[in-house]
Amino acid sequence: MTNGLLRPAMLAAARSARLERTVRRMPSTRRLVDRFVAGDTEEQAIAAATPLLESGRRISIDYLGEDTTDIGQARATVKHYLELLSALAHAQAAFSGDQTAVTPAGPLEVSLKLSALGQALPRDGHRIALDHAAEICAAAQAAAAMVTIDAEDHTTTDSTLSIVRELRGEFPDLGTVLQAYLKRTEADCQELAGSRIRLCKGAYREPADVAYQRRAEVDEAYLRCLRILMAGEGYPMVATHDPRMIDAAQRYARETGRDTGDFEFQMLHGIRDDEQRRLVKAGHRLRVYLPYGDQWYGYFMRRLAERPANLVFFLRALRPG
Ligand code: FAD
Repeated sequence: MTNGLLRPAMLAAARSARLERTVRRMPSTRRLVDRFVAGDTEEQAIAAATPLLESGRRISIDYLGEDTTDIGQARATVKHYLELLSALAHAQAAFSGDQTAVTPAGPLEVSLKLSALGQALPRDGHRIALDHAAEICAAAQAAAAMVTIDAEDHTTTDSTLSIVRELRGEFPDLGTVLQAYLKRTEADCQELAGSRIRLCKGAYREPADVAYQRRAEVDEAYLRCLRILMAGEGYPMVATHDPRMIDAAQRYARETGRDTGDFEFQMLHGIRDDEQRRLVKAGHRLRVYLPYGDQWYGYFMRRLAERPANLVFFLRALRPG
């Protein structure tokens, strides 16, 4: 993670509509966005997914969008996911063997942000997001795809986990994301260790009373949470590019008697492609989080905030001439 003042400043910028307009107008932005985002359209997302699946990787497709305060936009997002799932069901026919099975480790998954489904709507947001997510889960089941609910800023965590608990009555394989930087997460891991959990470090700007701020503290929290999940009965999804976390996952898996089919690694599209291939070659399950859509700004800025090298790359591209 980028240290010091830069990371909070970038994460604050990720929520600025004014800066978004500026960044979108810059001629060099698109090329950089393309590094992390699979394109604007569903067709482009499926085209990017195909070689990943052919290389033995699994995918989780995310239709970009967040913080919706417009019910029409939330409905449009649901409609978009339903169309995507129907297109994936057709594309699925291209893949054979046990890869087509709907198992926790099946090849196809969609990731959802509840704030894009209406969670932030002032009236009944929680209920609306729950109903919308249920509609998408049913369509995913019909399309032989899994669903995982993303984690957003800490003010949404209680609502998100309560929606996940409720949906799991009908969709027991529904996954969710826990963020190791939140101080509450070890307890959430204890509670949810029997299910599909994607463990990440956490990508938002959070206050010190709820989240660890120092990189070393976040890493130690990640390791503690990972140990809990690996010792549990569920299916850990180890979402990180960090070699130290990847080694620890392999070690904890050995210690807890899990084989390579009992958990998976996950990485973001465009990040550490060589490492993704190496893990697949070594017999591990590896899922790529593949975002697409024109609402890429917040996602893109969080990626820049994570890594000084990404930011330097961006700033260099902005230089004229
Ligand atoms: P970092 O602490 O960023 O990096 C640690 C080390 O990893 C670096 O020192 C370097 O050695 C290596 N590394 C990292 N990036 C690179 C790179 N580009 N090239 C080479 N080496 C690199 N966050 C949320 O808040 N909510 C979510 O729902 C969510 N979902 C996610 C889903 C997936 C599949 C993944 C992979 C991440 C998700 N995240 C989510 C983002 C996550 O919280 C982190 O912000 C992000 O993954 C960066 O943390 P890291 O563990 O990769 O390690």
